[in-house]
Amino acid sequence: MPDGTLARTEVVVTDGVTIGRPCCGVPQCKNPLENNHHRFCSVDPDHKKLETTCAIEGCNCPVTRDSKSGKYRKACDDPVHVKMEGANVESLCSGKSKTQCQKVAKLDNAMSSLDPPQLPADLTVALPIQDGDEWYKHDAQTGAVCLVRPAVMTSTGVLDTQPEMSHPAVDCESKDTPPKLKAIFRRQRTNNEQLVVRPCGVINGHGTMYHHETVSNVLIMIEQLYSLPRARKPQHLIYDSNCNALREVLNQCIKFFDGMGMCIDAFHHKNKHKASDTFCRDRCDMKAYPELLDDNGKYYFNSSIAKQTNVWFGAFHNICREMTPASIPITHT
Ligand SMILES: [Zn+2]
Ligand SMILES: [Zn+2]
Ligand SMILES: [Zn+2]
Repeated sequence: MPDGTLARTEVVVTDGVTIGRPCCGVPQCKNPLENNHHRFCSVDPDHKKLETTCAIEGCNCPVTRDSKSGKYRKACDDPVHVKMEGANVESLCSGKSKTQCQKVAKLDNAMSSLDPPQLPADLTVALPIQDGDEWYKHDAQTGAVCLVRPAVMTSTGVLDTQPEMSHPAVDCESKDTPPKLKAIFRRQRTNNEQLVVRPCGVINGHGTMYHHETVSNVLIMIEQLYSLPRARKPQHLIYDSNCNALREVLNQCIKFFDGMGMCIDAFHHKNKHKASDTFCRDRCDMKAYPELLDDNGKYYFNSSIAKQTNVWFGAFHNICREMTPASIPITHT
């Protein structure tokens, strides 16, 4: 310490990597799929029934057979729903999984060119677009149905990067436009894996984020991990969304995090968080904690370790993207 005394400081770093695997299409359902061709699990009878129910949100009609091929459709015989399925099939044929390929390629590139501790400027990767992120437009006059895709999403989980202004054009439009038509035609995937890593590179634990990586889920995972018998709670948690996580801790009065430093990796803090956010600057800057600095005021441990580990971990995505959860070999410590 700067005053010459000795102190023990334990730090863990957490970050998410987009390495999704097939999962049940019902939000938050953690049951495994009976096989990877299914969209819904068979464990819950209500979920299993959805395999033979029209894929369009809000429609409970049974699926029908295609008159030409004789195969079962994923939609009922409502002409609009049939057109929606057609638009979805068309989008698959036109390289729908492009985002996923780009992401894997990006991780592979990062893997081959990475020279630790020099990390690529931004390892935030694009998430694959899922059925829940897109919707269908039906023109009642022409009868045409088209698929609308959202802008590419990222996994930072930091609110600062979102646009501040609301979009008046969208607000006006929403008064006259019919509700968005949504459907689950494709098999859904888990959102990402969240790794908790020591600065030396040892992985302390991980958690699967079934939908978006939310700070509340990350906090629950950290609390559960370090509440296990003989687990030692670290003094510092480094996480890219820690300003939001700390706000949540204070709002919800989560006692577990009392006395724990919640900083943001120095590089991320400087480049991805607003300097005008005084709460973020005062509470989440590593420079505010002398125990994280050496005699020269520099960081003496690697706060980018989770990102570096995720680059290594992400390279397994091609191997395990079609695996069932029981097959994915991840070691818990
Ligand atoms: Zn299910
Ligand atoms: Zn239907
Ligand atoms: Zn911040």
